[in-house]
Amino acid sequence: MTPELEAILASLSPIQKEAAVWGDGSVLVLAGPGSGKTRVLTSRIAKILDDSRGKNFRILALTFTTKAAAEMRERVELLVPGLTERAFMGTFHAFCTQMLRQHGSHLGMSPDFAIFDQDADREALLSDALAVAAKTEAVDPDDVRWLKTIDQLKSRLVVPEKAASQFRDTRSGEAIARVYQIYEQALGEHNSIDFNGLILGACRLLRDVPGVAERTRRTYPYWLIDEFQDTTPAQYRLIQLAAGDGFKNLFAVADDDQIIYQWAGASYRQIEKMRADFRPELIQLVENHRCPPEIVGAANLLVAHNTFRTPGKKPLVAAKAAMSESISLRLFESDSAESEGLATEISETEPSRWGKTAVLARTRSLLVPIQQALQSKGVKAVIAQRRDRFISPQFTWLQACLDQALRPTDIRVFKVLVDAANRVAGQDLDPAILAAEAEAAGLSNFEHWGKTSVAMGNTIGAKLGAFAVRLAQSRTAWRPVVREAIPVLVDSATSAEGVVSDAADDKAAWDICVKEIRAEKGADIDLDELIQGLALRSKEPPRDPSTVTLLTVHASKGLEFDIVYVAGLAESIMPSWQSVNKGGESPEMEEERRNCFVAITRTRERLILSRAANYRGWSKGPSRFLSEMGFSGETEP
Ligand code: ATP
Ligand code: MG
Repeated sequence: MTPELEAILASLSPIQKEAAVWGDGSVLVLAGPGSGKTRVLTSRIAKILDDSRGKNFRILALTFTTKAAAEMRERVELLVPGLTERAFMGTFHAFCTQMLRQHGSHLGMSPDFAIFDQDADREALLSDALAVAAKTEAVDPDDVRWLKTIDQLKSRLVVPEKAASQFRDTRSGEAIARVYQIYEQALGEHNSIDFNGLILGACRLLRDVPGVAERTRRTYPYWLIDEFQDTTPAQYRLIQLAAGDGFKNLFAVADDDQIIYQWAGASYRQIEKMRADFRPELIQLVENHRCPPEIVGAANLLVAHNTFRTPGKKPLVAAKAAMSESISLRLFESDSAESEGLATEISETEPSRWGKTAVLARTRSLLVPIQQALQSKGVKAVIAQRRDRFISPQFTWLQACLDQALRPTDIRVFKVLVDAANRVAGQDLDPAILAAEAEAAGLSNFEHWGKTSVAMGNTIGAKLGAFAVRLAQSRTAWRPVVREAIPVLVDSATSAEGVVSDAADDKAAWDICVKEIRAEKGADIDLDELIQGLALRSKEPPRDPSTVTLLTVHASKGLEFDIVYVAGLAESIMPSWQSVNKGGESPEMEEERRNCFVAITRTRERLILSRAANYRGWSKGPSRFLSEMGFSGETEP
């Protein structure tokens, strides 16, 4: 055993260690925030890898975000250097993508499908398809609003043919089912798939193609799942199908009080189902190693107001010693005063603390003014994405260029590039017309666009066009071409979006990303695998350590910070107005309460709860969660 692994096992409490070194058989670790679930899971991966040196089976560890997967990989690598190659650590989506690329041909899928992971792209696709359909039938181009409903149906495994019966009102049910059908058809026509589709496709593979489930079981005899409480019914179905009858080693860690994807179908009933299906050993961890005792107390008080909880779960006990001033309250006149006030307070703390400081809010719209206020005081601040990915426009461009090189006839990607370059150059080239002209001239879209751009003096179009042509010609030697192109892309995208970005940051992010994809898929990845990896991966450019992180509660899942600000603790903000509108207690209100519970339990040292009396001119009372946690909502605790 490596000394690092030995040390971490020795640092675990007896019950944590029991879970980490558990032999074969299924285990459910049901425990509250900060109780060490992720730490136990990570140690367990390292332990299995260490125990099975020289064997050729692999371990499957599924996490909720790519960022969590990257962190996990880093930690395991520290514990058992050189052994992580035998583990797949990634999201459900990444795993399903891999399965579909390998075996999808059995279902008639072409292995080079594109993944639609951006809502804007999906909306554009659906809206185009609806516009076509509207010529012959009564559908409305505005029906893109049903996308979220379609997502919900898909995450519950409802196919278009069965969708109508899910709705009480038959007419709107039928309308939604039709839109769902049109959407699926459009995806198929573009040889593409969305996030839920990845899970459904993998389920079909496991169910319908003999041998795939068997092979998956043989390759991955150990499954470990972090944040199990937020698996959707479709994801759970995938686990069941992969497991079949003979599977024994499912290790899931969960906290039913942290379910925040109820709208996508996550439910404590799923945890119950897992217990019935897999009959796991149940291990409860009750010690919280993250938060000061005062916060643990407030969290216990808060969540006790919920009724939909796994029966018999024990309350959390703080393992840390008491600290002074671990919770404070702030009250402001208005939302703008709240943004200003919090930003001022943060700007007056030690800059060395900023990197370990987070501001959390129920919605992103509350974070934007806080970010602006911080920046105006010279404090670096970034808003983290949930499925954090290459968020900079530079990377969107790079990805689009790579995609186009691989799929020269894909008009969607072409449109992204032409539109973006139009913005920079102040031009108005129509991608559809360009494509038609290209066809007539017997050129690729890109080549023709490049030529047109040169003729019009559009240097960015010309550079990108030339880049794509070269890339297409050198698909096997793409790395140097891409590397060379990054500065051009950064340049172009920076002026296109008016974003100030550091090319060095982007290059560094690019290097990290390629390194990670290669660690996962082997050193000789081809362009296809690279794009696949990029689409599913996310890597924010490496940050200056004095950057404050702003996150929605959903994005804060599993993370921890020394100092945590929770803004917007007002009725109709947190809890949301939708849940307040329901009146009294409801499943929606319970979900809001779990959001608040997740938010406050991210804290390692100090928690600052804040609210304003007015948001956008509307007066709002203190959040009911404040009094439920034992605060009056008006005064310091
Ligand atoms: P969440 O539900 O929020 O994801 P979690 O149960 O996964 O929380 P971890 O993130 O694994 O909790 O652990 C919380 C913190 O407590 C981490 O900083 C971790 O290193 C620390 N920790 C966990 N167990 C111990 C221990 N036995 N001794 C000291 N520190 C510990
Ligand atoms: Mg965790």
